[in-house]
Amino acid sequence: MAAASEGDEASSRINVAVRCRPLSETERSNNVQSICRVMDRRLVILLDPGASAANDYLRQDKSKEKRFAFDQAFGSDVDTKTLFKATTEPLIKSVLQGYNATVFAYGSTGAGKTFTMIGTTIEPGIMFRSVEEIFAGVAGSDDHTFTVTCTFVEVYNENLRDLGSSDGKEGILDLREDPVTGTYVVGITEIRAESVQEVMDLLQMGNQRRTTEPTSMNVTSSRSHAVLQVRVERRGNPSLGILIGKLSMIDLAGSERASHTNNSGLRLLEGANINRSLLALGNCINALASGSHFVPYRDSKLTRLLKDSLGGNCRTVMVANISPSHVSYEDTLNTLKYANRAKHIRVRAKQNLVRPDEHVSQFEQAIADLRNEVSIL
Ligand code: ADP
Ligand code: MG
Repeated sequence: MAAASEGDEASSRINVAVRCRPLSETERSNNVQSICRVMDRRLVILLDPGASAANDYLRQDKSKEKRFAFDQAFGSDVDTKTLFKATTEPLIKSVLQGYNATVFAYGSTGAGKTFTMIGTTIEPGIMFRSVEEIFAGVAGSDDHTFTVTCTFVEVYNENLRDLGSSDGKEGILDLREDPVTGTYVVGITEIRAESVQEVMDLLQMGNQRRTTEPTSMNVTSSRSHAVLQVRVERRGNPSLGILIGKLSMIDLAGSERASHTNNSGLRLLEGANINRSLLALGNCINALASGSHFVPYRDSKLTRLLKDSLGGNCRTVMVANISPSHVSYEDTLNTLKYANRAKHIRVRAKQNLVRPDEHVSQFEQAIADLRNEVSIL
């Protein structure tokens, strides 16, 4: 069936932002050094601790510096509210206008992805703030009616698990394509949200249901990718059709290599699957960044789910989370290189406008085609 989408279309690059978290109390008391500086809200400077003594890199030897420029960069003094306003708030307006948008957090375990996306009650993350902004937009519009529905899903070991359902239908969910808004998860619990609090409850409950197994790196590290999708349908004058915007927000699993975590058995299998998804994500980013015609979205569940968000009909923000610790140097460098490649990806966001009469005629045509097939048989 042809896509029933039309309206404005705008090509843009994905917006790549880097966020460096502060050193923790424990790191400070263990004399961990901060090797990351953020300048001018764009530049990230990473000092190479090398193999030499801890104080070496504090001498600011420029030959040991690595510099990266991003669309935006946030140092350890920047709170989530400021980060949200700079990176995500502009996307919310377009979701209310019927565009798709995605925000995802990438980085190694302990770098601050969950803090950025889900956050705490004192400092709520991007997921909560986005939903709050959507509801503010909905409340501010008198001449339209809006329907807001949310789903929360986990990709774990290449299985999809419904985080919005108490029985956690693990492994039985599958992905399909919607001709208008793109990929969706079949059979997932859709929560028709009337208030921000309902979504906050979903986030907190769902986050507790996430598969969090201890690894040697971080006892609370999540081995799963968590995806919150908010669909906003806007209806006004019936003859003008329905605008459907979808906002996807993703807290990815740790990007560190499995070899770093000293895992074995099940943990290693998980690592392999997580790497399969992240490897596929990396391959898609490479293909898109180089303008290749073939992009291997089908190589993993995560990339199938994110297909629209990466190269298609979407406005996208990537938040690359990094730790300032000298112990995390390799992981931080890998994340910065990864984010640097992602800067070249272009997306084309289209307004998703559904005209019910066109939809009916599409279905009538499909039925006529089926009748023809049956009579031929
Ligand atoms: P990840 O999800 O990437 O594994 P977390 O979000 O769990 O990492 O962060 C690791 C720890 O660092 C947590 O205790 C979190 O509260 C803290 N943290 C992360 N980012 C920040 C930040 N910007 N400010 C303060 N604390 C942070
Ligand atoms: Mg996490």
